[in-house]
Amino acid sequence: MSELDLIDSILRHSLDLQRLSAHEEAQALEILRQLETELRQLLASNDLTDAGKREVNALIADAHEAIASSYAQIPGLLDTHELSLIVANRTADVLRDALPSVTIPSPERLASLTKDILIDGAPASAWWSRQAEDLQFKFAAQVRQGVLNGESLAQITARVVGSEDEPGILDTSRRNARSLVHSAVMTAANRARLETYRKNGRHIAGLRWLATLDSHTCMQCAALDGQAWNLDGDKLDGTTADFQLPPAHFACRCVATPIAKGLDDIFGTTGLDEKLKPAVRASSSGPTSAPTFEAFLERQSPEFVEEVLGKRRAELYLAGKLTLRDLVSGAGRPLTLDELRTR
Ligand SMILES: [Zn+2]
Repeated sequence: MSELDLIDSILRHSLDLQRLSAHEEAQALEILRQLETELRQLLASNDLTDAGKREVNALIADAHEAIASSYAQIPGLLDTHELSLIVANRTADVLRDALPSVTIPSPERLASLTKDILIDGAPASAWWSRQAEDLQFKFAAQVRQGVLNGESLAQITARVVGSEDEPGILDTSRRNARSLVHSAVMTAANRARLETYRKNGRHIAGLRWLATLDSHTCMQCAALDGQAWNLDGDKLDGTTADFQLPPAHFACRCVATPIAKGLDDIFGTTGLDEKLKPAVRASSSGPTSAPTFEAFLERQSPEFVEEVLGKRRAELYLAGKLTLRDLVSGAGRPLTLDELRTR
């Protein structure tokens, strides 16, 4: 197995993780859908056109309770420890195809790494309570404003759930929920993967950042693309950015790919340093010696594309009517944690 095969396997697994994330995001959205129904009912059960301060406050208190109990359910949906075990096992399986005597980090070690993971510097649990508080605050403000303006029930409800023309405060909640779930999945998965690389540091020289180079790639990720570090996070030759793990931001689909040691024959160079130099990447034309997502996808069979996207969307993709972003979004055919485990 070559280093290219190794990277392809890691990227295939990354697409699986995007599909898992799509499934987990849908679960969080389902809870918010139920919350929407509850809030609609609460609004409808009160005669707001004629409501006094006390009635409005009582309604807001009920809504606060509904929002808090809905958001309390979301963090428990994703089993980050189980996810980290699956990712570590899969990563080890992939390495095993290429390298001798591969080992897996202990479940205890993975548990401590993925317990209340940090997203953008704050624990996931704190992000979720912030989301609940934010929605509570906005709900109270929108309802009070609507009542003050003498709006109808339909108008006040639209402030919360949105209408044809105007998004409601719940639209922001939904978007943020998806971002947080995606970040939690990717953070836990990447930590488990790095830990597995470290555990097998005898064979792994470091990591290389691989960005999904589509039209939506942000400047931040485009700049990180191809940058490489050793397993202690020190920059390898040619790298200017400080070490970090994906995700770099909300909805980031970048992958940290392994750099195997001792593959001189593949790279046709002698010294290790030379081999580890991140090759110059050309994303539009010209030769590319470092791996790219596009090249990876070109190497995959139509059957693989169909497995990821489902039949209909695969046809569109193969006909050039869907973008790289559609393929890597994971939304084509979401995977559950159980399905991911048995793949
Ligand atoms: Zn990214």
